[in-house]
Amino acid sequence: METINPATGERLKTFDTWNDAQVEIALTAAAASNPGWQATPFAERARLFRHAAAELRNNTAHYAGIITLEMGKIVREARAEIEKCAWGCEFYAEHAESFLCDEIIQTDAGSSYVSYPPLGTVLAIMPWNFPFWQVFRFAAPSLMAGNTALLKHASNVPQCALAIGEIFRKAGFPEGVFQTLMITAARAEKIIADPRIHAVSLTGSEVAGRKVAAAAGAALKKTVLELGGSDAFVVLADADLEPAVNTAIASRFLNCGQSCIAAKRFILVEPIAEAFIEQFRHKAHALRLGDPMKEETRLGPMARADLRDQLHQQVTDSVATGASLALHGGPAAGPGFFYEPTVLDHVRPGMRAWEEELFGPVAVVIRARDEEDAVRIANDNRYGLGATIFTRDVKKGERLARRIQSGSSFVNGMVKSDPRLPFGGIKASGYGRELSVHGIREFVNIKTIWVK
Ligand code: NDP
Repeated sequence: METINPATGERLKTFDTWNDAQVEIALTAAAASNPGWQATPFAERARLFRHAAAELRNNTAHYAGIITLEMGKIVREARAEIEKCAWGCEFYAEHAESFLCDEIIQTDAGSSYVSYPPLGTVLAIMPWNFPFWQVFRFAAPSLMAGNTALLKHASNVPQCALAIGEIFRKAGFPEGVFQTLMITAARAEKIIADPRIHAVSLTGSEVAGRKVAAAAGAALKKTVLELGGSDAFVVLADADLEPAVNTAIASRFLNCGQSCIAAKRFILVEPIAEAFIEQFRHKAHALRLGDPMKEETRLGPMARADLRDQLHQQVTDSVATGASLALHGGPAAGPGFFYEPTVLDHVRPGMRAWEEELFGPVAVVIRARDEEDAVRIANDNRYGLGATIFTRDVKKGERLARRIQSGSSFVNGMVKSDPRLPFGGIKASGYGRELSVHGIREFVNIKTIWVK
Protein backbone atom coordinates (compact mmCIF):
# COMPACT_ATOMS: atom_id res chain seq x y z
CA MET A 1 0.00 0.00 0.00
CA GLU A 2 1.50 3.30 -0.93
CA THR A 3 1.00 7.04 -0.94
CA ILE A 4 1.66 8.50 -4.37
CA ASN A 5 0.97 12.21 -4.66
CA PRO A 6 -1.39 12.43 -7.68
CA ALA A 7 -0.42 16.05 -8.26
CA THR A 8 3.23 15.13 -8.88
CA GLY A 9 3.32 11.38 -9.42
CA GLU A 10 5.89 11.15 -6.62
CA ARG A 11 5.90 8.04 -4.39
CA LEU A 12 5.94 9.44 -0.86
CA LYS A 13 5.57 6.48 1.44
CA THR A 14 4.98 2.73 1.33
CA PHE A 15 3.34 0.55 3.95
CA ASP A 16 3.75 -3.17 4.45
CA THR A 17 0.55 -5.13 4.22
CA TRP A 18 -0.29 -7.33 7.17
CA ASN A 19 0.61 -10.98 7.48
CA ASP A 20 -1.75 -13.74 8.66
CA ALA A 21 -0.78 -13.34 12.31
CA GLN A 22 -1.63 -9.62 12.31
CA VAL A 23 -5.00 -10.25 10.68
CA GLU A 24 -5.72 -13.00 13.22
CA ILE A 25 -5.01 -10.61 16.13
CA ALA A 26 -7.45 -8.06 14.69
CA LEU A 27 -10.20 -10.63 14.10
CA THR A 28 -9.77 -11.91 17.65
CA ALA A 29 -9.91 -8.36 19.04
CA ALA A 30 -13.08 -7.59 17.08
CA ALA A 31 -14.78 -10.73 18.36
CA ALA A 32 -13.61 -10.08 21.93
CA SER A 33 -14.85 -6.49 22.00
CA ASN A 34 -18.22 -7.25 20.41
CA PRO A 35 -20.25 -8.41 23.44
CA GLY A 36 -19.13 -5.46 25.57
CA TRP A 37 -19.88 -3.01 22.77
CA GLN A 38 -23.32 -4.52 22.16
CA ALA A 39 -24.05 -4.07 25.87
CA THR A 40 -22.84 -0.45 25.89
CA PRO A 41 -25.83 1.93 26.20
CA PHE A 42 -26.72 4.15 23.24
CA ALA A 43 -25.90 7.23 25.31
CA GLU A 44 -22.31 6.07 25.80
CA ARG A 45 -21.85 5.16 22.13
CA ALA A 46 -23.28 8.59 21.24
CA ARG A 47 -20.85 10.30 23.61
CA LEU A 48 -17.92 8.63 21.82
CA PHE A 49 -19.26 9.60 18.39
CA ARG A 50 -19.58 13.20 19.56
CA HIS A 51 -15.91 13.01 20.56
CA ALA A 52 -15.07 11.68 17.11
CA ALA A 53 -16.99 14.58 15.54
CA ALA A 54 -15.07 17.06 17.71
CA GLU A 55 -11.76 15.45 16.78
CA LEU A 56 -12.64 15.82 13.09
CA ARG A 57 -13.81 19.43 13.47
CA ASN A 58 -10.86 20.51 15.61
CA ASN A 59 -8.38 19.10 13.11
CA THR A 60 -10.15 19.66 9.81
CA ALA A 61 -7.12 21.10 8.03
CA HIS A 62 -4.92 18.21 9.13
CA TYR A 63 -7.27 15.46 7.96
CA ALA A 64 -8.20 17.34 4.80
CA GLY A 65 -4.49 17.64 4.02
CA ILE A 66 -4.07 13.85 4.13
CA ILE A 67 -6.95 13.40 1.69
CA THR A 68 -5.48 15.94 -0.72
CA LEU A 69 -2.02 14.45 -0.46
CA GLU A 70 -3.11 10.89 -1.16
CA MET A 71 -5.90 11.20 -3.72
CA GLY A 72 -5.67 14.76 -5.01
CA LYS A 73 -9.01 16.23 -3.90
CA ILE A 74 -8.82 20.03 -3.84
CA VAL A 75 -8.46 21.29 -0.25
CA ARG A 76 -11.77 23.15 -0.07
CA GLU A 77 -13.61 19.95 -1.01
CA ALA A 78 -11.46 17.91 1.38
CA ARG A 79 -12.42 20.24 4.25
CA ALA A 80 -16.08 19.89 3.32
CA GLU A 81 -15.65 16.11 3.39
CA ILE A 82 -14.28 16.22 6.95
CA GLU A 83 -17.13 18.50 8.01
CA LYS A 84 -19.65 16.06 6.55
CA CYS A 85 -18.07 13.19 8.49
CA ALA A 86 -18.54 15.15 11.73
CA TRP A 87 -22.17 15.76 10.79
CA GLY A 88 -22.67 12.03 10.10
CA CYS A 89 -21.24 11.13 13.51
CA GLU A 90 -23.47 13.68 15.28
CA PHE A 91 -26.53 12.68 13.28
CA TYR A 92 -26.34 9.04 14.37
CA ALA A 93 -25.29 10.00 17.91
CA GLU A 94 -28.59 11.84 18.11
CA HIS A 95 -30.93 9.52 16.21
CA ALA A 96 -29.62 5.94 16.42
CA GLU A 97 -31.54 5.06 19.56
CA SER A 98 -34.90 6.22 18.20
CA PHE A 99 -34.21 4.55 14.82
CA LEU A 100 -33.64 1.25 16.61
CA CYS A 101 -36.14 1.33 19.44
CA ASP A 102 -38.55 -1.60 19.74
CA GLU A 103 -41.53 -1.36 17.42
CA ILE A 104 -44.72 -2.67 18.97
CA ILE A 105 -47.05 -4.57 16.63
CA GLN A 106 -50.55 -5.61 17.73
CA THR A 107 -51.14 -9.34 17.18
CA ASP A 108 -52.80 -12.20 19.05
CA ALA A 109 -49.88 -12.14 21.54
CA GLY A 110 -49.94 -10.52 24.94
CA SER A 111 -47.19 -8.39 23.53
CA SER A 112 -45.29 -8.59 20.26
CA TYR A 113 -42.69 -6.28 18.87
CA VAL A 114 -39.69 -5.94 16.55
CA SER A 115 -36.26 -5.36 18.07
CA TYR A 116 -33.05 -4.49 16.25
CA PRO A 117 -29.99 -6.13 17.82
CA PRO A 118 -26.67 -5.77 15.94
CA LEU A 119 -25.30 -8.50 13.68
CA GLY A 120 -21.76 -8.63 15.08
CA THR A 121 -18.65 -7.58 13.17
CA VAL A 122 -18.98 -5.92 9.77
CA LEU A 123 -16.14 -5.84 7.24
CA ALA A 124 -16.11 -2.51 5.39
CA ILE A 125 -14.31 -2.46 2.03
CA MET A 126 -13.99 1.16 1.06
CA PRO A 127 -12.77 3.24 -1.89
CA TRP A 128 -10.39 6.15 -2.23
CA ASN A 129 -12.70 8.77 -3.80
CA PHE A 130 -14.23 10.07 -0.55
CA PRO A 131 -11.73 8.31 1.69
CA PHE A 132 -13.11 9.71 4.96
CA TRP A 133 -16.80 10.16 4.18
CA GLN A 134 -17.34 6.68 2.73
CA VAL A 135 -15.91 5.19 5.93
CA PHE A 136 -17.84 7.40 8.37
CA ARG A 137 -21.04 6.98 6.36
CA PHE A 138 -20.72 3.27 7.08
CA ALA A 139 -19.17 3.40 10.55
CA ALA A 140 -21.45 5.88 12.34
CA PRO A 141 -24.70 3.90 11.86
CA SER A 142 -23.06 0.47 12.09
CA LEU A 143 -21.24 1.16 15.34
CA MET A 144 -24.11 3.11 16.87
CA ALA A 145 -26.23 -0.01 16.23
CA GLY A 146 -23.75 -1.99 18.34
CA ASN A 147 -21.68 -3.65 15.64
CA THR A 148 -17.91 -3.75 15.65
CA ALA A 149 -16.10 -2.96 12.40
CA LEU A 150 -13.03 -3.86 10.40
CA LEU A 151 -11.93 -1.48 7.66
CA LYS A 152 -10.15 -2.60 4.51
CA HIS A 153 -9.43 0.67 2.78
CA ALA A 154 -8.24 1.23 -0.80
CA SER A 155 -4.54 0.60 -1.33
CA ASN A 156 -3.81 4.15 -2.50
CA VAL A 157 -5.04 5.85 0.70
CA PRO A 158 -3.14 4.08 3.51
CA GLN A 159 -2.55 7.28 5.50
CA CYS A 160 -6.26 8.07 5.43
CA ALA A 161 -6.94 4.51 6.61
CA LEU A 162 -4.54 4.85 9.53
CA ALA A 163 -5.76 8.35 10.43
CA ILE A 164 -9.37 7.11 10.64
CA GLY A 165 -8.29 4.32 12.99
CA GLU A 166 -6.55 6.98 15.11
CA ILE A 167 -9.70 9.12 15.27
CA PHE A 168 -11.64 6.25 16.84
CA ARG A 169 -8.81 5.64 19.29
CA LYS A 170 -8.53 9.32 20.24
CA ALA A 171 -12.30 9.58 20.65
CA GLY A 172 -12.08 6.85 23.30
CA PHE A 173 -13.72 3.87 21.56
CA PRO A 174 -12.83 0.61 23.33
CA GLU A 175 -10.03 -1.48 21.85
CA GLY A 176 -11.22 -3.68 18.98
CA VAL A 177 -14.48 -1.85 18.21
CA PHE A 178 -13.10 -0.20 15.07
CA GLN A 179 -9.89 -1.43 13.46
CA THR A 180 -8.09 -0.59 10.25
CA LEU A 181 -6.66 -3.65 8.52
CA MET A 182 -3.72 -3.04 6.22
CA ILE A 183 -4.58 -5.79 3.76
CA THR A 184 -4.83 -6.39 0.04
CA ALA A 185 -8.08 -6.89 -1.85
CA ALA A 186 -7.30 -10.59 -2.26
CA ARG A 187 -6.94 -11.07 1.48
CA ALA A 188 -10.12 -9.10 2.15
CA GLU A 189 -12.02 -11.38 -0.22
CA LYS A 190 -10.66 -14.41 1.63
CA ILE A 191 -11.47 -13.30 5.17
CA ILE A 192 -15.15 -12.77 4.33
CA ALA A 193 -15.59 -16.49 5.06
CA ASP A 194 -14.15 -16.14 8.59
CA PRO A 195 -16.89 -16.90 11.14
CA ARG A 196 -15.91 -13.82 13.14
CA ILE A 197 -17.17 -11.63 10.28
CA HIS A 198 -20.95 -11.40 10.04
CA ALA A 199 -21.61 -8.99 7.17
CA VAL A 200 -19.84 -6.94 4.50
CA SER A 201 -20.30 -3.43 3.20
CA LEU A 202 -18.56 -2.48 -0.04
CA THR A 203 -18.37 0.80 -1.87
CA GLY A 204 -16.44 0.53 -5.11
CA SER A 205 -16.57 -0.80 -8.64
CA GLU A 206 -19.06 -3.21 -10.11
CA VAL A 207 -16.25 -5.73 -10.65
CA ALA A 208 -15.28 -5.66 -6.96
CA GLY A 209 -18.98 -5.76 -6.02
CA ARG A 210 -19.58 -8.96 -7.95
CA LYS A 211 -16.55 -10.67 -6.38
CA VAL A 212 -17.32 -9.57 -2.84
CA ALA A 213 -20.99 -10.48 -3.18
CA ALA A 214 -20.02 -13.92 -4.53
CA ALA A 215 -17.67 -14.54 -1.60
CA ALA A 216 -20.27 -13.31 0.89
CA GLY A 217 -22.98 -15.35 -0.82
CA ALA A 218 -20.88 -18.50 -0.57
CA ALA A 219 -20.55 -17.84 3.16
CA LEU A 220 -24.23 -16.74 3.50
CA LYS A 221 -23.42 -13.28 4.78
CA LYS A 222 -25.39 -10.11 4.36
CA THR A 223 -23.92 -7.48 2.02
CA VAL A 224 -24.61 -3.87 1.17
CA LEU A 225 -23.13 -2.84 -2.18
CA GLU A 226 -22.75 0.75 -3.25
CA LEU A 227 -21.23 0.51 -6.71
CA GLY A 228 -20.84 2.78 -9.68
CA GLY A 229 -23.32 4.97 -11.45
CA SER A 230 -23.87 6.74 -14.73
CA ASP A 231 -26.37 9.27 -13.50
CA ALA A 232 -28.64 10.99 -15.97
CA PHE A 233 -28.96 14.77 -15.84
CA VAL A 234 -32.09 15.55 -17.82
CA VAL A 235 -32.73 19.10 -18.99
CA LEU A 236 -36.23 19.78 -20.34
CA ALA A 237 -37.20 22.52 -22.77
CA ASP A 238 -38.70 24.72 -20.03
CA ALA A 239 -35.67 24.53 -17.69
CA ASP A 240 -34.05 27.63 -16.30
CA LEU A 241 -30.74 27.19 -18.11
CA GLU A 242 -28.35 29.13 -15.92
CA PRO A 243 -28.95 27.19 -12.70
CA ALA A 244 -29.15 23.99 -14.73
CA VAL A 245 -25.71 24.61 -16.25
CA ASN A 246 -24.19 25.67 -12.92
CA THR A 247 -25.54 22.56 -11.20
CA ALA A 248 -24.35 20.41 -14.09
CA ILE A 249 -20.83 21.83 -13.79
CA ALA A 250 -20.75 21.36 -10.02
CA SER A 251 -22.09 17.81 -10.25
CA ARG A 252 -19.85 16.62 -13.07
CA PHE A 253 -16.59 18.16 -11.87
CA LEU A 254 -16.78 17.78 -8.08
CA ASN A 255 -13.87 15.64 -6.91
CA CYS A 256 -12.48 15.80 -10.46
CA GLY A 257 -15.47 13.82 -11.67
CA GLN A 258 -14.63 10.85 -9.44
CA SER A 259 -17.94 10.46 -7.69
CA CYS A 260 -20.44 7.65 -8.04
CA ILE A 261 -23.33 10.14 -7.94
CA ALA A 262 -21.79 12.69 -10.30
CA ALA A 263 -24.00 13.66 -13.21
CA LYS A 264 -22.43 11.72 -16.08
CA ARG A 265 -24.94 11.62 -18.94
CA PHE A 266 -26.40 14.99 -19.87
CA ILE A 267 -29.65 14.22 -21.64
CA LEU A 268 -30.77 17.39 -23.36
CA VAL A 269 -34.03 17.84 -25.23
CA GLU A 270 -33.43 19.32 -28.66
CA PRO A 271 -34.80 22.86 -28.18
CA ILE A 272 -32.26 23.72 -25.45
CA ALA A 273 -29.41 21.37 -26.37
CA GLU A 274 -27.21 23.84 -28.26
CA ALA A 275 -27.60 26.65 -25.73
CA PHE A 276 -26.90 24.29 -22.82
CA ILE A 277 -23.80 22.80 -24.46
CA GLU A 278 -22.43 26.23 -25.31
CA GLN A 279 -22.73 27.49 -21.74
CA PHE A 280 -21.55 24.20 -20.26
CA ARG A 281 -18.41 23.92 -22.36
CA HIS A 282 -17.54 27.54 -21.67
CA LYS A 283 -17.79 27.03 -17.91
CA ALA A 284 -16.03 23.67 -18.00
CA HIS A 285 -13.17 25.19 -19.96
CA ALA A 286 -12.83 27.97 -17.37
CA LEU A 287 -12.28 25.56 -14.45
CA ARG A 288 -8.83 26.25 -13.10
CA LEU A 289 -6.75 23.08 -13.15
CA GLY A 290 -3.83 22.91 -10.76
CA ASP A 291 -2.23 22.14 -7.42
CA PRO A 292 -5.02 20.71 -5.22
CA MET A 293 -3.37 22.22 -2.13
CA LYS A 294 -4.00 25.76 -3.48
CA GLU A 295 -7.25 27.49 -2.53
CA GLU A 296 -7.84 28.93 -6.00
CA THR A 297 -7.70 25.54 -7.75
CA ARG A 298 -11.04 24.22 -8.98
CA LEU A 299 -9.95 20.96 -10.57
CA GLY A 300 -7.23 18.77 -9.10
CA PRO A 301 -5.57 15.68 -10.53
CA MET A 302 -7.23 12.32 -10.89
CA ALA A 303 -6.36 9.92 -8.08
CA ARG A 304 -4.20 7.43 -9.98
CA ALA A 305 -2.37 7.15 -13.30
CA ASP A 306 -4.23 3.96 -14.27
CA LEU A 307 -7.61 5.63 -13.67
CA ARG A 308 -6.62 8.54 -15.89
CA ASP A 309 -5.36 6.20 -18.63
CA GLN A 310 -8.54 4.14 -18.46
CA LEU A 311 -10.71 7.26 -18.74
CA HIS A 312 -8.73 8.51 -21.71
CA GLN A 313 -9.10 5.16 -23.46
CA GLN A 314 -12.88 5.35 -22.97
CA VAL A 315 -12.88 8.83 -24.53
CA THR A 316 -10.61 7.80 -27.42
CA ASP A 317 -12.69 4.70 -28.17
CA SER A 318 -15.93 6.72 -28.07
CA VAL A 319 -14.53 9.27 -30.53
CA ALA A 320 -13.30 6.46 -32.79
CA THR A 321 -16.86 5.13 -32.93
CA GLY A 322 -18.47 8.47 -33.81
CA ALA A 323 -18.72 10.71 -30.73
CA SER A 324 -17.53 14.27 -31.21
CA LEU A 325 -15.50 16.42 -28.85
CA ALA A 326 -17.43 19.56 -27.90
CA LEU A 327 -14.59 20.35 -25.52
CA HIS A 328 -11.24 18.83 -26.28
CA GLY A 329 -9.60 18.17 -22.92
CA GLY A 330 -7.61 15.01 -22.33
CA PRO A 331 -4.48 14.28 -20.31
CA ALA A 332 -2.63 17.46 -19.33
CA ALA A 333 1.07 17.78 -20.10
CA GLY A 334 3.54 17.64 -17.24
CA PRO A 335 3.78 15.61 -14.05
CA GLY A 336 0.80 14.34 -12.07
CA PHE A 337 -2.40 12.69 -13.22
CA PHE A 338 -4.27 15.75 -14.49
CA TYR A 339 -7.02 15.50 -17.06
CA GLU A 340 -8.47 18.57 -18.72
CA PRO A 341 -12.28 18.91 -18.71
CA THR A 342 -13.74 17.17 -21.73
CA VAL A 343 -17.20 17.15 -23.30
CA LEU A 344 -18.27 14.31 -25.59
CA ASP A 345 -21.25 15.11 -27.80
CA HIS A 346 -23.47 12.95 -30.02
CA VAL A 347 -22.92 9.89 -27.85
CA ARG A 348 -24.93 6.89 -29.05
CA PRO A 349 -25.71 3.33 -27.95
CA GLY A 350 -22.79 0.97 -28.38
CA MET A 351 -20.18 3.62 -27.66
CA ARG A 352 -18.17 3.13 -24.47
CA ALA A 353 -19.29 6.56 -23.22
CA TRP A 354 -22.89 5.38 -23.45
CA GLU A 355 -22.44 1.91 -22.01
CA GLU A 356 -19.85 2.51 -19.26
CA GLU A 357 -19.29 4.74 -16.27
CA LEU A 358 -16.85 7.59 -16.94
CA PHE A 359 -15.16 8.20 -13.60
CA GLY A 360 -13.41 11.51 -14.25
CA PRO A 361 -13.89 15.02 -15.67
CA VAL A 362 -15.64 14.00 -18.89
CA ALA A 363 -19.25 14.96 -19.64
CA VAL A 364 -21.34 12.86 -22.00
CA VAL A 365 -24.02 14.65 -24.01
CA ILE A 366 -26.98 12.76 -25.42
CA ARG A 367 -29.74 14.54 -27.33
CA ALA A 368 -33.36 13.59 -26.78
CA ARG A 369 -36.37 14.39 -28.97
CA ASP A 370 -38.65 15.25 -26.06
CA GLU A 371 -39.22 14.39 -22.41
CA GLU A 372 -40.50 10.88 -23.15
CA ASP A 373 -37.37 10.19 -25.15
CA ALA A 374 -35.28 11.67 -22.30
CA VAL A 375 -36.79 9.26 -19.75
CA ARG A 376 -36.28 6.36 -22.12
CA ILE A 377 -32.60 7.27 -22.57
CA ALA A 378 -32.12 7.86 -18.82
CA ASN A 379 -33.38 4.33 -18.16
CA ASP A 380 -31.43 2.74 -21.01
CA ASN A 381 -28.45 2.12 -18.77
CA ARG A 382 -27.05 -0.71 -16.70
CA TYR A 383 -26.70 1.54 -13.66
CA GLY A 384 -29.38 3.03 -11.41
CA LEU A 385 -27.85 5.22 -8.72
CA GLY A 386 -29.04 8.84 -8.97
CA ALA A 387 -30.68 11.19 -11.47
CA THR A 388 -31.44 14.89 -11.89
CA ILE A 389 -34.24 16.57 -13.82
CA PHE A 390 -34.31 20.27 -14.55
CA THR A 391 -37.66 21.83 -15.41
CA ARG A 392 -39.69 24.87 -14.32
CA ASP A 393 -42.71 22.58 -14.01
CA VAL A 394 -41.98 21.00 -10.62
CA LYS A 395 -44.99 18.67 -10.75
CA LYS A 396 -43.84 17.31 -14.08
CA GLY A 397 -40.32 17.01 -12.65
CA GLU A 398 -41.67 14.90 -9.80
CA ARG A 399 -43.60 12.66 -12.18
CA LEU A 400 -40.46 12.02 -14.24
CA ALA A 401 -38.38 11.61 -11.08
CA ARG A 402 -40.58 8.67 -10.08
CA ARG A 403 -40.18 7.05 -13.52
CA ILE A 404 -36.40 7.14 -13.66
CA GLN A 405 -34.84 3.87 -12.53
CA SER A 406 -32.57 5.07 -9.73
CA GLY A 407 -32.05 4.99 -5.98
CA SER A 408 -32.67 8.73 -5.88
CA SER A 409 -33.97 11.39 -8.27
CA PHE A 410 -33.48 15.10 -7.65
CA VAL A 411 -35.63 17.78 -9.28
CA ASN A 412 -33.82 21.07 -9.96
CA GLY A 413 -30.90 20.11 -7.74
CA MET A 414 -27.67 18.16 -7.58
CA VAL A 415 -27.68 14.56 -6.39
CA LYS A 416 -25.91 14.43 -3.04
CA SER A 417 -25.86 12.20 0.00
CA ASP A 418 -27.50 13.46 3.18
CA PRO A 419 -27.53 11.56 6.50
CA ARG A 420 -31.29 12.19 6.76
CA LEU A 421 -32.11 10.48 3.45
CA PRO A 422 -31.47 6.93 2.23
CA PHE A 423 -28.62 6.50 -0.23
CA GLY A 424 -27.93 3.64 -2.64
CA GLY A 425 -28.80 2.20 -6.01
CA ILE A 426 -30.56 -0.41 -8.07
CA LYS A 427 -29.49 -2.45 -11.12
CA ALA A 428 -25.68 -2.60 -11.48
CA SER A 429 -25.30 0.22 -8.93
CA GLY A 430 -25.78 -2.34 -6.17
CA TYR A 431 -28.32 -2.94 -3.43
CA GLY A 432 -29.06 -2.04 0.14
CA ARG A 433 -29.15 1.46 1.55
CA GLU A 434 -26.83 3.64 3.57
CA LEU A 435 -27.74 6.61 5.77
CA SER A 436 -31.09 7.56 7.38
CA VAL A 437 -33.18 5.04 9.31
CA HIS A 438 -32.87 2.61 6.38
CA GLY A 439 -29.06 2.59 6.52
CA ILE A 440 -28.83 1.81 10.21
CA ARG A 441 -31.26 -1.10 9.78
CA GLU A 442 -29.06 -2.88 7.22
CA PHE A 443 -26.64 -4.39 9.71
CA VAL A 444 -29.09 -5.40 12.42
CA ASN A 445 -31.16 -8.49 13.05
CA ILE A 446 -34.77 -7.47 12.46
CA LYS A 447 -36.03 -9.66 15.23
CA THR A 448 -39.56 -10.63 16.29
CA ILE A 449 -40.29 -10.98 20.01
CA TRP A 450 -43.64 -12.62 20.82
CA VAL A 451 -44.91 -12.95 24.40
CA LYS A 452 -48.11 -14.79 25.39
P1 NDP B 1 -12.23 -0.96 -6.71
O1 NDP B 1 -13.64 -1.35 -6.69
O2 NDP B 1 -11.25 -1.95 -7.25
O3 NDP B 1 -11.77 -0.57 -5.21
C1 NDP B 1 -12.66 -0.26 -4.16
C2 NDP B 1 -12.27 -1.05 -2.92
O4 NDP B 1 -12.51 -2.43 -3.14
C3 NDP B 1 -10.79 -0.95 -2.57
O5 NDP B 1 -10.65 -1.00 -1.18
C4 NDP B 1 -10.23 -2.22 -3.19
O6 NDP B 1 -9.00 -2.60 -2.63
C5 NDP B 1 -11.34 -3.19 -2.89
N1 NDP B 1 -11.40 -4.37 -3.72
C6 NDP B 1 -11.24 -4.46 -5.07
N2 NDP B 1 -11.42 -5.73 -5.48
C7 NDP B 1 -11.71 -6.46 -4.37
C8 NDP B 1 -11.96 -7.85 -4.15
N3 NDP B 1 -12.00 -8.73 -5.15
N4 NDP B 1 -12.20 -8.27 -2.89
C9 NDP B 1 -12.18 -7.40 -1.87
N5 NDP B 1 -11.92 -6.08 -2.02
C10 NDP B 1 -11.70 -5.61 -3.26
O7 NDP B 1 -12.13 0.40 -7.48
P2 NDP B 1 -10.86 1.12 -8.20
O8 NDP B 1 -10.12 1.88 -7.20
O9 NDP B 1 -10.05 0.17 -8.99
O10 NDP B 1 -11.63 2.08 -9.17
C11 NDP B 1 -12.09 1.55 -10.42
C12 NDP B 1 -13.48 2.04 -10.75
O11 NDP B 1 -14.40 1.70 -9.71
C13 NDP B 1 -13.63 3.52 -10.88
O12 NDP B 1 -13.18 3.99 -12.11
C14 NDP B 1 -15.12 3.67 -10.67
O13 NDP B 1 -15.79 3.35 -11.86
C15 NDP B 1 -15.44 2.65 -9.62
N6 NDP B 1 -15.46 3.22 -8.26
C16 NDP B 1 -16.66 3.55 -7.71
C17 NDP B 1 -16.70 4.13 -6.47
C18 NDP B 1 -18.00 4.51 -5.84
O14 NDP B 1 -18.04 5.49 -5.10
N7 NDP B 1 -19.05 3.75 -6.03
C19 NDP B 1 -15.50 4.45 -5.72
C20 NDP B 1 -14.28 4.03 -6.38
C21 NDP B 1 -14.29 3.45 -7.59
P3 NDP B 1 -7.60 -2.21 -3.36
O15 NDP B 1 -7.56 -0.74 -3.44
O16 NDP B 1 -6.59 -2.79 -2.45
O17 NDP B 1 -7.65 -2.87 -4.71
